[in-house]
Amino acid sequence: MTFAVLDDPRTLDATAPAAPRLDAAWLDAHWMPFTGNRDFKARPRMIVAGEGAYYTDTDGRKVFDGLSGLWCSGLGHGRQDIAQAIGRAALQLDYAPAFQFGHPASFELANRIVALMPEGLRHVFFTSSGSEAADTSLKMARAYWRTRGQGGKTRLIGREKGYHGVNFGGVSVGGMVGNRKAFGQGIEADHLPHTQPPAGTFQRGMPQGGGAALADRLLDLIALHDASTIAAVIVEPFSGSAGVVIPPVGYLQRLREICTQHGILLIFDEVITGFGRAGGWTGAEVFGVTPDILNFAKQVTNGAQPLGGCVVTAEIHDTFMAAGGPQYMLEFPHGYTYSAHPVACAAGNAVLQVLQQDDMPARVRALAPAFERMVHGLRGARHVADIRNFGLAAGFTLESLPEEPARRPYEVAMKCWDKGFYVRYGGDTIQLAPPFISTEAELERLVSALGDVLQETA
Ligand code: PLP
Repeated sequence: MTFAVLDDPRTLDATAPAAPRLDAAWLDAHWMPFTGNRDFKARPRMIVAGEGAYYTDTDGRKVFDGLSGLWCSGLGHGRQDIAQAIGRAALQLDYAPAFQFGHPASFELANRIVALMPEGLRHVFFTSSGSEAADTSLKMARAYWRTRGQGGKTRLIGREKGYHGVNFGGVSVGGMVGNRKAFGQGIEADHLPHTQPPAGTFQRGMPQGGGAALADRLLDLIALHDASTIAAVIVEPFSGSAGVVIPPVGYLQRLREICTQHGILLIFDEVITGFGRAGGWTGAEVFGVTPDILNFAKQVTNGAQPLGGCVVTAEIHDTFMAAGGPQYMLEFPHGYTYSAHPVACAAGNAVLQVLQQDDMPARVRALAPAFERMVHGLRGARHVADIRNFGLAAGFTLESLPEEPARRPYEVAMKCWDKGFYVRYGGDTIQLAPPFISTEAELERLVSALGDVLQETA
């Protein structure tokens, strides 16, 4: 077998035009996700290649990837080792049914993932995305209680400002009003208060005080509904999409205590914090709190293939396995056509190997103090109302325009792109999550470009 074709990326894809057209008629067919389509199509920003920490656009400009794609490509782009693993897997076994049959790559990846988890998380259920992981974990929580004869425990609790993807479960427990309001009735869910300090706190890393008291608000929901009706609480160890919001010291510990005391499952959505971004293999490890279910996606394949999943305790897994009935009976009637996709799992195996070999969590820990100093150097910059950071992630709250809170962040993000730096905007925030492979000099240039753009923006 030969893989020479992979050596020359120009021969790889005969289906995408070498020089994309940018006219309205060609662009119109694609309805783009989470995009102002009318604005994009009037002024297309087309990415045609990626190498290391940089994208290339249609003009051949190099653009620094200040958000690692969408928080997923910490190892940078265009890596031969990952591409070779994907190419080999696609040639050997491009697809296999995950229902009733297995293939080695998914078992290998499950074992690799379990080995990186905190003690107690033992079994992996694969999905293709973080949204699917969120909904899978919520269904798993309800089914777990039903299997244990406590079918009344169905209530789900999320948190204000939480983001758990866009499927109906995730959007219902999520706390981003803008993502919910267009879609009417979701599934019933309650929300804990968010943990964002008041604007102007300029918190470096984790806030120190008030964590346990904030978590105690879960007791109010338990008093209201009774624990006998509550299946699970889902939170991100720190939330990315809300603009990098870190809970105070003691918050996650107290949530864990309350959940354990009252028989409620604790789910961590580690789609952003998993596999390096927080400076450890998981936020659970970094913050010293182990959930019952831990969701992952994004960095597990470096973004090179769609893959996500839920890692669960032996207790949860074994409850399903011990449920009885004939041996061929499904223990959990749930799964996706692309669950445990062989090519995605091959990417995951290659990525975890590189993350481990190069000890990327240690690199994140090493870069984090300099990154913190740089981003907080923008305190006092024009429009900046607040700055927060953890690991290799930072969020800037901008002073809002009264009628259009999202406009300024959007303009800032687009101007950064024009200057050769990709950053993300969301709500009234700008978000940075640069690749783990970034140098300090690149981080300096990124933050200083953002400072220049803020100064130039009305
Ligand atoms: N959960 C969290 C914490 C996320 O940040 C995201 C995506 O940003 C998701 C879930 C959804 O993942 P996906 O877009 O892969 O469905």
